Amino acid sequence: MAMADGTMRFDLLIYNGRVIDPANNINMKGCVAIKGGAIAAVAEDIPRREAEKAIDAGGSYIVPGLLDIHSHVYPLLPHDHAGALPSIDADTTMLRSGVTTTVDAGTTGWRDFLAFKENVIDTATVRVLALINMTVTGMVEMEAEQDPSQFHPEITAEVARQYRDVVVGIKAAHYWVGKPFDAVHVPWASADAGLRAAELCGMPLMIDFQPNYEPPGRTYEDLILKKLRPGDIHTHVFAKQFPIVDGAGKVLPHMRAARERGVYFDVGHGAGSFWFRNGQRALDDGFYPDTLSTDMHVASVKFAALDQLQVMSKFLNMGMPLEEVIMRSTSEPAKLIRRPELGTLSVGACADVAVIRVLKGDFGYVDCGYAMMRGDSRLDCQVTVRGGKVVYDANGLSLPRWQDAPPEYWKMPFLPK
Ligand SMILES: [Zn+2]
Repeated sequence: MAMADGTMRFDLLIYNGRVIDPANNINMKGCVAIKGGAIAAVAEDIPRREAEKAIDAGGSYIVPGLLDIHSHVYPLLPHDHAGALPSIDADTTMLRSGVTTTVDAGTTGWRDFLAFKENVIDTATVRVLALINMTVTGMVEMEAEQDPSQFHPEITAEVARQYRDVVVGIKAAHYWVGKPFDAVHVPWASADAGLRAAELCGMPLMIDFQPNYEPPGRTYEDLILKKLRPGDIHTHVFAKQFPIVDGAGKVLPHMRAARERGVYFDVGHGAGSFWFRNGQRALDDGFYPDTLSTDMHVASVKFAALDQLQVMSKFLNMGMPLEEVIMRSTSEPAKLIRRPELGTLSVGACADVAVIRVLKGDFGYVDCGYAMMRGDSRLDCQVTVRGGKVVYDANGLSLPRWQDAPPEYWKMPFLPK
């Protein structure tokens, strides 16, 4: 039905689904209408004739486009790869799992940040935000993460401030003990430099932490109870190296005390940082991670993490209710990175939407400790909408049936870049 000026009331209508929008406490049968790249209406029923195009989401959930706040999306050319964390291309790996916003977790330091911004942040279809690594080279030359002389908190904070439209925090990571790093190893050098940069630019720190209990050492308890500030994020919470639960499966008091202080816990699954032996026991004792994320890079795409929906599927099968799984992949990550306008279907918000369904069957899930879990559910992405445009549609829900399609080749409604 056209408006008085001949245009339709909505550009796109996704109807007949179940709308879950945790930011607004919505969980109802309904539809989402989009106009001009923004969410225009969420209602139980909107007539299809009011929209230019309609997608039947029968049997599926209509949710905000997902956020994955720990990824590595600054792919380098193969000849640059020695000593670099091999990253992935955001658009080819994320749109297919409903992710419309990702946060690159410190792949670049200040030296490479502008190249990253020009080549990825400014060109990708996925909204790419960044944590800047507090070392000069970040993970482009990972050895710098071992060497305190290459920690540059002041310059890092300055670059973060300059580009605060796309920078949402600071990253410190991969600070080990052991040869050949013994000579320069100062226990808290990496955490302290990250905290200093975060303090200077007024943003949160996300830290990948390696505890060391030998004196002079650094303990996980001290990190989350004394070092991190309210709003800072410990990623990889269910990795093997952290004391999370005791022998009886009870969550240790320092976890709840740190949460009480306002410290956040992110999954950051990756190829080496998620163990059912920690995660399942923590969940069973009522300790949920604040956010679900992949730590996507080449190794985690090939093994265990796979993608955001796979990580979410694990938590669904571990017993986390679907609404919580969605919340911890939409409104909660948006809150942690202080972008509450993301991860929601509020009217006026950018129209980033995912249509997902729960497949039932016999599925296996693998963790980073070479253990598996069986489950009966798997999340599957049907359609991804970014800024009001369909950017992924594996089952052709936005297309006419072939019997109804015109004989000539016609203009694709969307074209993957
Ligand atoms: Zn990472």
